[in-house]
Amino acid sequence: MDFLTRQRRLQAALSGNRLDALLVTHLPNLQYLCGFTGSAGALWITPDSCVFFSDSRYTEQASEEVQGARVVIQRKALLPSIAGWVVRKQRGAKRPVIGLEGEHISWAASQRFAKALAGKYKLRAAPPLVEQARLIKDKDEIEAIRRSVELGASLFDDALPHLRPGVSEVEVASILESGARRAGAEGMSFETIVASGARSALPHGRATEACIASGGFVVCDFGVILHGYCSDRTRTVWVGPVTAEARQVYQAVLEAQAAAMAEVGPGVSVGAVDRAARNVLKKQGLDKHFTHSTGHGVGLEVHEAPRVAAGLKDRLEPGMVITIEPGVYLTGQWGVRIEDMVLVTEKGCEVLSPGIKDFTAI
Ligand code: ZN
Ligand code: ZN
Repeated sequence: MDFLTRQRRLQAALSGNRLDALLVTHLPNLQYLCGFTGSAGALWITPDSCVFFSDSRYTEQASEEVQGARVVIQRKALLPSIAGWVVRKQRGAKRPVIGLEGEHISWAASQRFAKALAGKYKLRAAPPLVEQARLIKDKDEIEAIRRSVELGASLFDDALPHLRPGVSEVEVASILESGARRAGAEGMSFETIVASGARSALPHGRATEACIASGGFVVCDFGVILHGYCSDRTRTVWVGPVTAEARQVYQAVLEAQAAAMAEVGPGVSVGAVDRAARNVLKKQGLDKHFTHSTGHGVGLEVHEAPRVAAGLKDRLEPGMVITIEPGVYLTGQWGVRIEDMVLVTEKGCEVLSPGIKDFTAI
């Protein structure tokens, strides 16, 4: 990963945002900027310096992982220690402006930090500069995402023979999760969703001890974290004798997904992508059962910018990675969702987890 380029770009953006320094504390942003994967740290960035702070649990890990920044290990509470360090560096009467990540730092933590600065600096909530940079994935990131998506897809293929009546949702989840671990994944992107029968109508029905019963869909939505990058994909299969309605609704969701994918391309608004999926379902009177947005960005985090939702005007650009995941949920009956990750390209998009997703009954 090209951490130095990322740091340089951020440093160049500071003055345009009227910041003398930025204190990055959000862990995925730290990983993005300097490679650190631990659970406590902060990166102090000024136009001409990058200093990484952590505590003594991470002395060795920080020296191994952190790139492009000097590492300082603090023995006391992190934020007050950093404040003390920057106060000691401060020269002159001017009060420089420090930006904090307002979306990620708690009010109490920012207050403690402000107190320890003893009036020597001004504090303000910075715009989400690192998140904006993370919108466009570079070559290394796309490669990592591809590997993560491929692993997720192969795990589903391996679990499919185990999906049958009488097997519990958690058993299926454990097959997926242990397979992920064995293949080297650091973890799952989020709590694995295996939702059968009427529970498949819950858009986020995490796996329970309920057993898969004949006569309904099973929604499997899961992802892995591999080399820091998340995958997110949903496959839905029918269990038992097939009904015409099940087949028809599944087909409608599949067409909605294809229509949204066909819309994806540079300069297209995320709202237009959402509308393309919704319009297909509307024609069949199913749009009222599509109760969530069409997709979201994926990268170091499983839900990141951009959101792909109704009415949003953000424009897609090559290098963005988003999900396209329409669903139809018939409360008390069953639900269907089909989700894939796509890479926005110069011409349109590339589906990152191709594979057959025709109606499947087991
Ligand atoms: Zn998902
Ligand atoms: Zn998703």
